[in-house]
Amino acid sequence: MLGPQLKSLFPLRVSLKMHFFRDSCVSAVLGSSCIPYTLRSSVQCFLALTKKSLFLEVPLIVFTILPNLCHSESEPTLSYLMSPSDFKYFSSPISFGFKDCNLETNKIATCIELVFISNPLPEGPYCPKSVDQTGGIYDYDGVSNPGLQPINHKLLMAMETDGFDIVDDRGKVRIAHPNDVVNQRNRTKKYCLEADPDYKLKLKYLIPANPTLRKEPSPIDNVLSLVGVSLYGVPINGPAPSIVNGPKMPDGSKGPVGDLPAVDPCGGHQDPSGFYHFHMFPETINNVLLTHNIHDVRCLYVPQTVNTLIGFAMDGYPIYAHLDINGQEPLDLDQCRGHVGITKDFPFKVYHYHASNAESPNTLPCLRGVRADNPLSLE
Ligand SMILES: [Zn+2]
Ligand SMILES: [Zn+2]
Repeated sequence: MLGPQLKSLFPLRVSLKMHFFRDSCVSAVLGSSCIPYTLRSSVQCFLALTKKSLFLEVPLIVFTILPNLCHSESEPTLSYLMSPSDFKYFSSPISFGFKDCNLETNKIATCIELVFISNPLPEGPYCPKSVDQTGGIYDYDGVSNPGLQPINHKLLMAMETDGFDIVDDRGKVRIAHPNDVVNQRNRTKKYCLEADPDYKLKLKYLIPANPTLRKEPSPIDNVLSLVGVSLYGVPINGPAPSIVNGPKMPDGSKGPVGDLPAVDPCGGHQDPSGFYHFHMFPETINNVLLTHNIHDVRCLYVPQTVNTLIGFAMDGYPIYAHLDINGQEPLDLDQCRGHVGITKDFPFKVYHYHASNAESPNTLPCLRGVRADNPLSLE
């Protein structure tokens, strides 16, 4: 892996091994095949390591501009290094910094640790109180009138037709906190679910600072699967739980069926433990609603966008709205909605994801990169 010039610096490599983060800098720089990326990585390493022994950074910077390290401008870069300056993208974290972490591959690495308050955005509405009102939205998977739609008379009547008794005899919608009904599996009455915010909670994320690809993508397929973190600090999950099949638990079991886990028009709702999270990317959701012929419900709290950064996936790769820097919709997205290219914020070819502008959910079906163990914890 070392080029001829760098082989002569083998003792330097050995000494760099002494500190893990320093080593990951070297790996990132040496692993790069593109000068702009290499220069950026060097600067990042330099910034991150200014408190360490500085003399090691000088040869790094000298050597990273050697032309033989840049094989081809078109060769994709599947790894990059987050720098302290990347924290600027997040709005108001309580704290942020670098920390050692365990990866799902059982390796120890450097992660960025971000802590946010639990409910930073306005929210709702969720469940309508009666059949003649409109609440949030839901992507119904029943037999009658399936698909993304507002939570109103039409959806509630479709649920009743499909055997889910969610409206009482006076036309009132049965509403419950998920914790109050989750263990009543054999009940005939079904509920629209709404949890309460807990403003005292803090959310702590661990995201690999030097993202790397897995051998196989990891699916986003259960209630705890995390897509990533939005720039607001709000978790982004996979699809909201199914009404017909119930929430799919991490152990493969099913939660109670027939309840409606309402999400608000921005695609988010409260977890039973009291933190707001998204099941859709809110930045492109109004176009998704229009695509599904929904005109009377809108996400009002999150500005809509076409090409800006909207968050980071749990594997550390950035997530963008549906258009690329050139104003075009990318045509080469992989099964996880990712591809390699230049972005506004990362002016070198880097793997990144794109939100859908039309599909529901508009999030990612899988992640290509390695995640930290326990990437989200509550404090
Ligand atoms: Zn949820
Ligand atoms: Zn792109």
